[in-house]
Amino acid sequence: MNSAIILGGGIAGLSLASFLDERCTILERNEVVGGLSRSYKINGIDYDIGPHIIFSKNEEVLRLHTEMIPTSKIRRSNQIFYKGRYIKYPFENDLGSLPAEDRDRCLQEFLENPYENYEPKNMLQFFLKTFGEGITQSYLQPYNQKIWKFDPSCMDTQMVERIPKPPKEDVIASASGVATEGYTHQLYFYYPVSGGFQTLVDAYAEKASIKGAVKTGINISSINKEGEDWVVCTNNGEIRGQKLINCMPLHELFKIMPHPDYVASALKALLYNSIHIVTIHVKSDRIGDHFALYIPDQDIIFHRLSKLNFLGEKYCHADGSTTLMAEVTFRPDSYLAKMNIKDIENTVISDLVRLNFISAKDVLDIETRTEKYAYVIYDLDHRKNADLVLGYLRELGIESVGRFAEFEYLNTDGVVEHTLALARRLNAS
Ligand SMILES: Cc1cc2nc3c(=O)[nH]c(=O)nc-3n(C[C@H](O)[C@H](O)[C@H](O)COP(=O)(O)OP(=O)(O)OC[C@H]3O[C@@H](n4cnc5c(N)ncnc54)[C@H](O)[C@@H]3O)c2cc1C
Repeated sequence: MNSAIILGGGIAGLSLASFLDERCTILERNEVVGGLSRSYKINGIDYDIGPHIIFSKNEEVLRLHTEMIPTSKIRRSNQIFYKGRYIKYPFENDLGSLPAEDRDRCLQEFLENPYENYEPKNMLQFFLKTFGEGITQSYLQPYNQKIWKFDPSCMDTQMVERIPKPPKEDVIASASGVATEGYTHQLYFYYPVSGGFQTLVDAYAEKASIKGAVKTGINISSINKEGEDWVVCTNNGEIRGQKLINCMPLHELFKIMPHPDYVASALKALLYNSIHIVTIHVKSDRIGDHFALYIPDQDIIFHRLSKLNFLGEKYCHADGSTTLMAEVTFRPDSYLAKMNIKDIENTVISDLVRLNFISAKDVLDIETRTEKYAYVIYDLDHRKNADLVLGYLRELGIESVGRFAEFEYLNTDGVVEHTLALARRLNAS
């Protein structure tokens, strides 16, 4: 019988195995499956690597995920924290909450936009063309600079080109104080009733284990082809299969697979961000009943702050205390990467106090998780380099699917859309 070896037990590897007809062996380095979609606990409350909400424009995937596990349907309440004010997300749909001078500038430069007719060549030009100078310079440019740790003028338009131009009437109405809803496909989202996002991962792991073995704690030392077979050498013995499918980050795959110099150069040029997830259990906070706050202020170390209580009663302490999560991205070779975890945590707390969100004396507990591969950076050469590396794998007959296996900004719904499509193609052949 045919069998496939799947490298990496994140949601890509697990969902693919559950969709494939053939027998699969999943090889996962960590003791627990799930990768970026794993959940952890702080003082009994489950948390993810940045709250992982379930949403999708793909109805099939959305239905699959909301039927696989019990979920709550939740209405978004996200805010941008700008000059000490709460501006409802997305920014352009709530201009009326800005200070009067900023509101008037953002509206005028949206309506009288000299960049409107240019073909944008990078992310910054796209923002200027679509939103005008006021909205771009007040929010989009500083916020994006902060999350990517990369100048938006050196990033391409692949990620933003699908953002629709907001209707003029909505932006005008928002400036006169009538806030409207934007990005309506994310207005409602779903979240596991309990157990965090890991619940979805575990549901896939259970289906995958029926199709074959899910091996954890695996250390792969080499990958080679012998005749028609792929042979993967591990600390757990040799694994053979007719197909090899990569679901782990490309940078990790090529540490254990021989490759030519041109692939090594393209891989080196593929840039990514890492992330510290700082979770804080605090007696009380002053951010109200909001889920996520976006912080464009360059002086504050985190770009997003989430309040996990918003996700349902299983994410709340009986004593009314709060679980907050601050996200701090960094480029692996940057100054921030050298900061130790204690200093990161102290800075997060002092920034929360400076913003008047909490009092330092109320902090009950804090813990930090760091993920090396968090966000793909769409620098101007991303497409060229990603295509070179993926083209090489295709020549070898190796499929590569998943966020860092394709080197694309894919959320779990995008990952599962791709694993479904791949499984259908392989099952049909
Ligand atoms: C901060 C943040 C917030 C996010 N929020 C959302 C959200 O709200 N909603 C949403 O849908 N998505 C969200 N995502 C995206 C989501 O996490 C990813 O799309 C998804 O988890 C990627 O799954 P994957 O299987 O492709 O990759 P990964 O999860 O990275 O899995 C790769 C696996 O390969 C394993 N591996 C690595 N090296 C080796 C090796 N040498 N040998 C064996 N195994 C190896 C890893 O341990 C890992 O388990 C978010 C991501 C981040 C970083």
